[in-house]
Amino acid sequence: MEGECRWQNNCIRGSCRICGNEGGLRCSNCRMQFYCSKDHQLTDWPDHREICIAWKIQESPELGRYLIASKDLYPGDTIIAEDPIIWGPALHTDEIICIGCGYKNPTSTCPTCRWPSCKSTCEGLKNVNGHGIECKLLAKAKMLPRCEIILPLRILLLRPFDQKRWKTLIKLQSHEDSRGSGTEAYEEVKKLADQMSPLLSLDPESKKILPKVCGIIDVNALETNPPEGTVALYKTACLLEHSCVANTKHSFNLEINGKPSIKVEAATSVKKGDHLSINYTHALWSTRARRDHLYATKYFLCDCKRCADPTELGSHLGTLKCSCENGWVLPKDPLNQDTDWSCDKCLCVLSSAEVLEITYKLEQEVEDALAIASKEVLGNILTRLELLLHPGHQHCISIAHSLIQLLSPEDPRKSELCKRIINTTSIIDPHGVRLGLYTAVALRELATCPGENKTDLLVKAIRLLYNEPANSPGQKLSSLMEQQLIS
Ligand SMILES: [Zn+2]
Ligand SMILES: [Zn+2]
Ligand SMILES: [Zn+2]
Ligand SMILES: [Zn+2]
Ligand SMILES: [Zn+2]
Ligand SMILES: [Zn+2]
Repeated sequence: MEGECRWQNNCIRGSCRICGNEGGLRCSNCRMQFYCSKDHQLTDWPDHREICIAWKIQESPELGRYLIASKDLYPGDTIIAEDPIIWGPALHTDEIICIGCGYKNPTSTCPTCRWPSCKSTCEGLKNVNGHGIECKLLAKAKMLPRCEIILPLRILLLRPFDQKRWKTLIKLQSHEDSRGSGTEAYEEVKKLADQMSPLLSLDPESKKILPKVCGIIDVNALETNPPEGTVALYKTACLLEHSCVANTKHSFNLEINGKPSIKVEAATSVKKGDHLSINYTHALWSTRARRDHLYATKYFLCDCKRCADPTELGSHLGTLKCSCENGWVLPKDPLNQDTDWSCDKCLCVLSSAEVLEITYKLEQEVEDALAIASKEVLGNILTRLELLLHPGHQHCISIAHSLIQLLSPEDPRKSELCKRIINTTSIIDPHGVRLGLYTAVALRELATCPGENKTDLLVKAIRLLYNEPANSPGQKLSSLMEQQLIS
């Protein structure tokens, strides 16, 4: 039956919970339970909803809508499994990707609109949920292909063509009040409106809505992988609030219908009533950089337990070294971006601006060194950084991570640096939500050092990578390590 097939993915079948017959109708929420018919699904719903829905929507003036756990959860429990409301190429990018499937470096074009595609027969070009929507319009508009206009266009086209999805989407937060004249966001929307003018002129109302649409994308969209290079908006997953130490992790799967579905699972034990959170920023950045980034892109200042702790839970990713003996320079009030920083051993005080200047200057040097990436250059800059920064500082860690891959196992620095990196990631990402691959690389390098338990370390690394998408660097590293384990 046509109507039921939209529930099913990859034609997986299972036994119906009511009659036991084989059925291809799958619960669209948890994707775990099968039914033979819509009737039996409805019959089972009062019982099934208890195990199916792990979240509840709450609302507060500060957070807007957010999710809490509706039951106790254990690591690996599925919390959300859903298709996107809409997806498309990321905004603010000059990258050209296949208009049909999202893959990078397309070499062909869509036969109808002439926009770039991986091949003229790419499945995604005909997808009625994807490129199929805008293809004719693009053909008519005869404009220069710019992938960043596609997602706003797809959203604008929901309004006339799919009211249900449009209404779900427009409810998401857009923070328009923070995106007015004089802001970077405002300028970007203006640029986008110019690029899209051949399309917007077809529907004057759409030009008025564009700023809100861009706000919704910037605030809520999640970067997918697979496919790489696209972002997607989800009805429930986009309600997860940010935390720098998130209690969920998520992965994507490219379904047979061409949609990147998301699976959100518990990364740790979660108690009924706990807020469910996701990490929207770079885990290895120090608090100052993370909070600036979140404020600039998502319009809020994070006050999670890591942001509130001057030492960042003991990782010292932002800590400076004082010129006195053994003193560390830490922010007095980490939740205030303009706070003074003071030494924990002497009376030395640095202003927020001075700290920013020092870390920014060093960041430039770190980037230059990483671009050359020779053993000598990295070794030298690390020695210099350690005179000015805590050995756990973000800059030291990023240099160390490149250096370990160049040092020979016999070099005593190698195992020390590997352990330092593993210690840092175990503090700031204890559940492997964001830094699985990063940590796995360090574990694998450590496994080569004399006196280390090779098997133990490789098993740990492989475990961190169990959720990596097919053909991704993470998955390739994982199979490499599996071979190493056997040999
Ligand atoms: Zn049945
Ligand atoms: Zn279910
Ligand atoms: Zn393609
Ligand atoms: Zn086309
Ligand atoms: Zn935080
Ligand atoms: Zn001091």
